[in-house]
Amino acid sequence: MVAVSCDSRRSRYRNCERHLLHDQHARPVFSGPLPPLSSAEVVISGNLRKTVTYLAGNIGERNIIAYPQLQATATFIESWFKGLGYEVKSQEYVVQMRKVRNISAEIQGTTTSNEIIVVAAHYDTVYDCPGADDNTSGIAALFELARLLRDSHPARTIRFVAFVNEEPPWFQTGSMGSLAALAGSNIQPLQGTYVIFPCVRSLTPNGDAAAFCDRLRHESRVALVPGLPRWFGPGSEGHVRICFATSRAILQEAFDRMEPVVNPR
Ligand SMILES: [Zn+2]
Repeated sequence: MVAVSCDSRRSRYRNCERHLLHDQHARPVFSGPLPPLSSAEVVISGNLRKTVTYLAGNIGERNIIAYPQLQATATFIESWFKGLGYEVKSQEYVVQMRKVRNISAEIQGTTTSNEIIVVAAHYDTVYDCPGADDNTSGIAALFELARLLRDSHPARTIRFVAFVNEEPPWFQTGSMGSLAALAGSNIQPLQGTYVIFPCVRSLTPNGDAAAFCDRLRHESRVALVPGLPRWFGPGSEGHVRICFATSRAILQEAFDRMEPVVNPR
């Protein structure tokens, strides 16, 4: 998450990415028993588990169809932030005649408060799914970051946001929570991850992006996500999602590995 990407950590993160990439050669980066958790990590682990268990286990599916659960989750998030002493803001809008809301809380920056780092996760789920991973685990991490940073004095403002309506059918529409929240914002160029969505139809039999990704995974040891309509909406078929990390060297290595598949001799 952007909020923890201070410079020293960012370079550490780059190293992790490098290791992950090298790990795809099947050389394990780490082996042996995990080191015991510190007492602070035990608290974090317990809190993460509690949030995921409550939202995914007790409340379960939450979206426009499971609307009472969506509202219950919003109320839960608001009272959680309030319990930490944050002032909570709601950005309410109407979708299919139902009120939905993004929820935010923030720590004012000390010197450049008009520059805002947004740390966000979404609290709705896809239909018929409790969403423990996507994105309850994100909400759990959001809560922990908000708790741990509560008494910090960052130079920039840190805004914690729980978005609504990120999942289909709202994904990439004007009703998507994050797009509704960003309306009118002046957004700085990203320093972390960029995403492109190129068409690979001509590179794979029947234009099948999933088959293309399978081939890349096996032959190039590079993992891409195919543009399946259930994830990326109609029109995404035949495309792949490529996430760009900050390191040019890692990208170069990935593209070098993909080259024999993309441009066979
Ligand atoms: Zn999601």
